[in-house]
Amino acid sequence: MAARTLRIGLIPGDGIGKEVIPAGRKILEALPASLKLKFEFVDLKAGFETFEQTGAALPDKTVEILKNECDGALFGAVSSPSKAVKGYSSPIVALRKRLDLYANVRPVKSVMTAKNPIDMVIVRENTEDLYVKEEKTYEAADGSKIAEAIKRISEKASFRIATMAGEIALRRQKIRESGAPSIHKSPLVTITHKSNVLSQTDGLFRATAREALAASRFSSVGVEEQIVDSMVYKLFRQPETYDVIVAPNLYGDILSDGAAALVGSLGLVPSANVGEGFAIGEPCHGSAPDIMGKNIANPIATLRSVALMLEFLNEETAAAKIYAAVDGNLEEGRLLSPDLGGTATTTEVVEDILRRL
Ligand code: ATP
Ligand code: MG
Repeated sequence: MAARTLRIGLIPGDGIGKEVIPAGRKILEALPASLKLKFEFVDLKAGFETFEQTGAALPDKTVEILKNECDGALFGAVSSPSKAVKGYSSPIVALRKRLDLYANVRPVKSVMTAKNPIDMVIVRENTEDLYVKEEKTYEAADGSKIAEAIKRISEKASFRIATMAGEIALRRQKIRESGAPSIHKSPLVTITHKSNVLSQTDGLFRATAREALAASRFSSVGVEEQIVDSMVYKLFRQPETYDVIVAPNLYGDILSDGAAALVGSLGLVPSANVGEGFAIGEPCHGSAPDIMGKNIANPIATLRSVALMLEFLNEETAAAKIYAAVDGNLEEGRLLSPDLGGTATTTEVVEDILRRL
């Protein structure tokens, strides 16, 4: 079999993004030769610092190179200025739009040796719902203010996000069957909504997701649904019951941050922004200005984001190797960064994980 070459854009961004993205590059370079995978890297700019230097938080060149030359990318973090800065808006939000990365995928996983292990992934629709940002404020008859926002749900977007959730459930099952330890025996997708109140918008999401997941290729995937408030309750009481959760944009946003709290540190949680044939791995944390430059940022969220990106580029075997090396480090618990109660530096954690590859 000929080697496959993947071209990966590297966008460190601001703060600890500059410390963790190089670790992401290192782990790709350290993958065993037997996988027959080669990587080429392109350094790209975006972020607040880029905005201050060039006037654009997301230079057109970055978008063009990603679109025309790259198979995938890694995005570090961008600092959000404390006050609104004229002309500045988040480059990752813009990037999701310009590359039509319609899904935000966030796995939340503990080590399997934990007392109550969890292993779930939240698949959040990323283009519509209340995030269409169509708001207005007007006056009531008595002169008091009223504000309104549009919650838009389309059949198309609901169908494609539910289909992606089904594909992810199948792929997770495949990775388990290849020997990766897991708490789940069979794939399950839980659709979340609030259609008891919002019968049209969430009703459409729920019905369309059901329809998408009824496709014959998902015949081995269990499908359940749950009202979002009761899901939050169960997410905290019995998180081990969830495998794949699919959600409209706002509920997905809230559920993913809530779920991230279950595993103890933001420094552990990866994500991917996914569209047709393209994926950007991105750690869930921000630029963490309080710890930048100290070589103590936990690199694991980024290393897991690298693995997640590889999954979407159909390189499950390579992804599984990275997950296993990270789990090995966490299970042994000898070289942990300070956010996990350890004293290891970023460099030491990365070296330990590379050794386990
Ligand atoms: P931003 O505006 O860029 O989001 P922030 O100040 O909100 O910056 P976050 O990056 O969101 O900071 O982090 C929140 C907290 O979690 C901070 O105290 C930060 O130090 C900690 N943290 C985030 N990421 C990591 C990491 N990879 N390793 C260790 N601690 C982290
Ligand atoms: Mg933050």
